[in-house]
Amino acid sequence: MKRLAVYCGHQAGGNSAYTDAARELAREMTERGIDLVYGGGKLGLMGIMADEVLAGGGKVFGVIPQSLVDVEVAHTGCTELYPVPGMHERKAKMTELTDAFVCLPGGIGTLDELMEAWTWNALGYHSKPFCLLNIDGFWEGFASFCDTVTKQGFMSEDRRNQLLMADTPGEAIDKLDAAAKAAQDGFVW
Ligand code: AMP
Repeated sequence: MKRLAVYCGHQAGGNSAYTDAARELAREMTERGIDLVYGGGKLGLMGIMADEVLAGGGKVFGVIPQSLVDVEVAHTGCTELYPVPGMHERKAKMTELTDAFVCLPGGIGTLDELMEAWTWNALGYHSKPFCLLNIDGFWEGFASFCDTVTKQGFMSEDRRNQLLMADTPGEAIDKLDAAAKAAQDGFVW
């Protein structure tokens, strides 16, 4: 894996474990030579990710809608900052630039981005894996809802199992690496 898209809150959240996890994820990435693709903002967990990857000598590719350049305070230190017309183009560009996706805790923007990574994979638009970084159990309610969707017959077990979950950044990258390799080898979900 050369590039990882990190979806996360444009706020820092109410638990210092989230900011610690963002820093640790950035460290793991730079140590393994993985560059960052993200939403291009300077605030919250997004800003921490960009600052830490840059500080570790990694490259940062930010993709931000023109209308959010001021609202989300575009990060001027990005290696490349791609201004795009809107949210759809943002996700499409981030998908094009990355090899895999990981989600730190976040709000509805992060949820939207996760669901699009998953549904686009399901539709065969890409075969890039995605993983939830389950800091302090943040994603457990969501994972359990996905189990309900499966049990109620709206999603196959195979589809459900695509949603990877990890407790640490290192574990997330290991799982994504293995899944990306399986996809390259022609494994079909
Ligand atoms: P949040 O998780 O709500 O803090 O948002 C995280 C990031 O997702 C922010 O940069 C938001 O601008 C972005 N975002 C929100 N809605 C969308 C969307 N529909 N498509 C792409 N990005 C979005």
